[in-house]
Amino acid sequence: MTPHIPALWPKTTGETSFWFTQTGRPMPRPALPGPTQADVCIIGAGFTGLWAAYYLSRAAPDLRVIMVEAEHAGFGASGRNGGWLTGGFAWTHDRYLNTSTEQAVRALVRAMSGTVDEIIGIAASAGIPANIRRTDELLVATNPAQHARLLDEHRSRTHWGETDIQIIDAADLAQRVAIPNARAGLKIPNVARIQPAELVTGLARLVERMGVPIFENTRVTTLHSGRVETTRGPITARTILRTTEGFTSQLAGHARDLLPLNSAQIVTAPLPESVWDKIGWQGYEMLGDFANAYCYCQRTDDGRIAVGGRGIPYRFNNRLDQNGTPDDETIRRLIAILKQHFPAAANAPIDHAWCGTLGVPRDWCARVDFDPVTRIGSAGGYVGVGVSTANLAGRTLADLALNRQTALTALPWVNRPLRKWEPEPLRWLGLRGMYKLLNAADRAEAQGANPSALATLANRIKNS
Ligand SMILES: Cc1cc2nc3c(=O)[nH]c(=O)nc-3n(C[C@H](O)[C@H](O)[C@H](O)COP(=O)(O)OP(=O)(O)OC[C@H]3O[C@@H](n4cnc5c(N)ncnc54)[C@H](O)[C@@H]3O)c2cc1C
Repeated sequence: MTPHIPALWPKTTGETSFWFTQTGRPMPRPALPGPTQADVCIIGAGFTGLWAAYYLSRAAPDLRVIMVEAEHAGFGASGRNGGWLTGGFAWTHDRYLNTSTEQAVRALVRAMSGTVDEIIGIAASAGIPANIRRTDELLVATNPAQHARLLDEHRSRTHWGETDIQIIDAADLAQRVAIPNARAGLKIPNVARIQPAELVTGLARLVERMGVPIFENTRVTTLHSGRVETTRGPITARTILRTTEGFTSQLAGHARDLLPLNSAQIVTAPLPESVWDKIGWQGYEMLGDFANAYCYCQRTDDGRIAVGGRGIPYRFNNRLDQNGTPDDETIRRLIAILKQHFPAAANAPIDHAWCGTLGVPRDWCARVDFDPVTRIGSAGGYVGVGVSTANLAGRTLADLALNRQTALTALPWVNRPLRKWEPEPLRWLGLRGMYKLLNAADRAEAQGANPSALATLANRIKNS
């Protein structure tokens, strides 16, 4: 008997991401040929590793830089994300004050926001189209509790130097996009929409043209100062940069550094003009909301809606997804968000669903690390805001690897003390409990409750 498949169920799932089904998988690159020597070995060919390679070889063309990648360039979150290029700042600014000053945190905010122009400029000069479109970010509040969070967010961002953001009322919002029950929106200018797989594969080709070989299907098993062991032979390198973000927990000795948090997306088929007439969204804004378990959406170049959200946040003992295949419960939740925010597209066919992993440090604050003694560096923990952050991290890693003391190496996310995650089962229980509370808070708030005590409790767990 054929199993019953609901009409709205995605036609395909996994396959790394919808973005790769659009671009087609690039030709595989050769694996490491055997024992190899280099000046710098970069582990992981996502945005962080690729940007580090780009800036290193631009600054020091004679340096022998090589990259090793377990699967293929862009296999990780860099080829799977929501395509929000925002120059945003992951998690609370105040946390960086433990080890720095307000002035330094503002410098970090400015540097992050500069990444949008930096990436767009390099992509343009290297001929990487990546469907880049400059637009605004629009975060929408659909109930009183979300509205209160919107006002908090506006206050906080303004305090930290983002003076060009603006609150827009329901009427102005409706001119841009029709979201049921929308009360207000936070408009953040100077962001862009990208096609992630195109950007990451274009960047990989650029880095190769600059003379950096990328060895694919080459998994690093261990690393020590000066030496990296891989499934294809050892590498000796004076400097090693580990840029494995959401996969870091799989490396021996790193199980509790960055928690692998899941994020997932669905994408509709291209929608007819009659549907777009109802939705609006002619500005292709990056659309999100102020739910506790928030969503992120983009209107694609070919007229689809991509909706992203958390779903099942964390699998016991750092277990990862299989090539981007999400679980059914996550898909159901994303379809519910599509219907809630875009009722005109409620019956649209869903072409694809996929997921990926992002890295979360115990203090939920992105970081760049470099030990001048072992000469091992790393960056990550972007908590889902990594498309732009990875550029700044890669640039900073390059300066650190070149022993340069620059404005970037002085930023307060460099070499902060690392707090490890709790061992299992505490890690799983904590994350699971936290997201159950956040989802329950969203349900209560949708019924008109104030910013709920449940959300406060969830945030206490997070900040404990
Ligand atoms: C579904 C989803 C949606 C997202 N949406 C957005 C968004 O819209 N905007 C935004 O700013 N951020 C978003 N993010 C986060 C962002 O994509 C990431 O923060 C960013 O891409 C991380 O880049 P990276 O290079 O550090 O890591 P990755 O892209 O994950 O790259 C790490 C690479 O290391 C390789 N690797 C791992 N282990 C080994 C090993 N042992 N040996 C060799 N290679 C190894 C992996 O195969 C992978 O290619 C999203 C993330 C996900 C998962």
